[in-house]
Amino acid sequence: MHIREDDAGAHPAVTPVYQTSAFEADSPYFYSRKNNPNVAELEKVLQTLENAEYAVAVTCGMSAIFMSLEILRSGDTLVVNPFIYGCSYKLLQRISERRGFKLVDLDFSEESNIDKIPADTKMIFFETPTNPFLKTVDIEKVSKHVKSNNPGTVVVVDNTWATPLFQHPLELGADVSLHSGTKYFSGHSDVMNGVLMTNRKDLAEEFRETRFYGGMLLSPENAWLTRRSLQTLDIRLKQQQSVCAEIRDFLNQQPQVEKVYYPKIDGKQLKGYAGILFFELKDPDGYIKFRDELEIFKTGTGMACVTSMIAQPWSGSHASMTDEEKRQINIGENLVRLSFGLENPEDLKNDLLSAFKIL
Ligand code: PLP
Repeated sequence: MHIREDDAGAHPAVTPVYQTSAFEADSPYFYSRKNNPNVAELEKVLQTLENAEYAVAVTCGMSAIFMSLEILRSGDTLVVNPFIYGCSYKLLQRISERRGFKLVDLDFSEESNIDKIPADTKMIFFETPTNPFLKTVDIEKVSKHVKSNNPGTVVVVDNTWATPLFQHPLELGADVSLHSGTKYFSGHSDVMNGVLMTNRKDLAEEFRETRFYGGMLLSPENAWLTRRSLQTLDIRLKQQQSVCAEIRDFLNQQPQVEKVYYPKIDGKQLKGYAGILFFELKDPDGYIKFRDELEIFKTGTGMACVTSMIAQPWSGSHASMTDEEKRQINIGENLVRLSFGLENPEDLKNDLLSAFKIL
């Protein structure tokens, strides 16, 4: 069947989904493993949001991290702040073992530890605010320090939790800012995507090649859905930011709560903060009872979306770490993560209040 509608004059109001794997010989897109108009448009939006020269969109956050590690070679030193998403930590461990990288764990959210970063570091990887506990890492100080020892060190920041609205790592000296766009970018728990952003042409070219040969280009539908969700990113984040701050104050008044974790917003590096916080219950075994009593907060792997979610890092985001690794970084079974959606904050507080009553 060679019948085709001539759509050249259709001028749709939004870019349609380019559901095609192949392009004709004169197309700049070549093949949908290399590029696709929906992916290219999404990248332009993300670049604009984070003021980056280049954005490379991929299938999910983990593939973005995986691709950043492709830069390293056997014998290279990779330094990680262990307060990151558990699967990212496992991936770094797994690849380091298999490819012969020297993996160094160091909590450089403690400023006194910045001087302990090994001089031969080839890549340094961290999240700020950290996951869990929302401590902040000084991107500028860390970048200056590692580059003064070794100008070739690649500084990689996972900027998922801070978001481009509130933090621009590349402006502070990072080489790569990457995201799991499955979270705030998608915002509706219905699409996975990831992105690597950089101002360095050499890295952007390297990532594009890895994406092409590794087959990690984002699908056109997922790029299209994500691009649509980005139309409401600002408004969603502002609402989540206000609810999160309100519930932080509310949790601080609850007698069943040991400690609430919320990041320090310095206005320079971190200009605001959206919708996820942690708290510890006084009752070491209280989590399941508390969770089961909630009606609005849903359980599951989703977060940073339009519905409020509850999770236990011990059994969820950090489940791929061993119990010993979790204890080493103070993750206990009483640590709770709340992610706020767009529900009425009074309803959320009442839901939490009735669950606290059973503890
Ligand atoms: N980075 C952070 C900070 C995350 O929280 C996650 C997932 O929760 C990832 C990366 C992995 O992203 P994805 O699930 O899109 O592969």
